[in-house]
Amino acid sequence: MEELKIRPIEDGTVIDHIPRGQSLNVLRVLGVDTSTRDVVSVAMNVPSDAMGRKDIVKVEDREIGSKEADIIALIAPDATVNVVRDFEVRDKYEVSMPDEIRGVLNCPNPNCITNTREPVETVFDVRDGEIRCDYCGTVLTDEVAEYLG
Ligand SMILES: [Zn+2]
Repeated sequence: MEELKIRPIEDGTVIDHIPRGQSLNVLRVLGVDTSTRDVVSVAMNVPSDAMGRKDIVKVEDREIGSKEADIIALIAPDATVNVVRDFEVRDKYEVSMPDEIRGVLNCPNPNCITNTREPVETVFDVRDGEIRCDYCGTVLTDEVAEYLG
């Protein structure tokens, strides 16, 4: 059992086994920026038996929902989410690749209906590692985090 290299939290979520260098993208998925009021800790380049080096993100007083976990899966497919209450891990699960992503990513095609006729919720299909806009067929080619709203 690998220990978490950061101090325990009372309540919140610890996302472990993030590929090194991806923790900031995970924060973007979670909507953490300079205006956030959550207590957030990031550990980068933590030694890991399985991964060599990994990143860990800890968000206090917030439980990560499945919609956010789905997007995290695209960035960090081996991530584990630990939901902590009263200093104990109450729920632990591995993220799983979604079949479909709704309303989170923006389509890069300026002529896509999701960009021209707002509000139309974006829908992307995930298949064979490819993320494709359900409306215009555009395939996302950059890092997923680049398409976050
Ligand atoms: Zn599109």
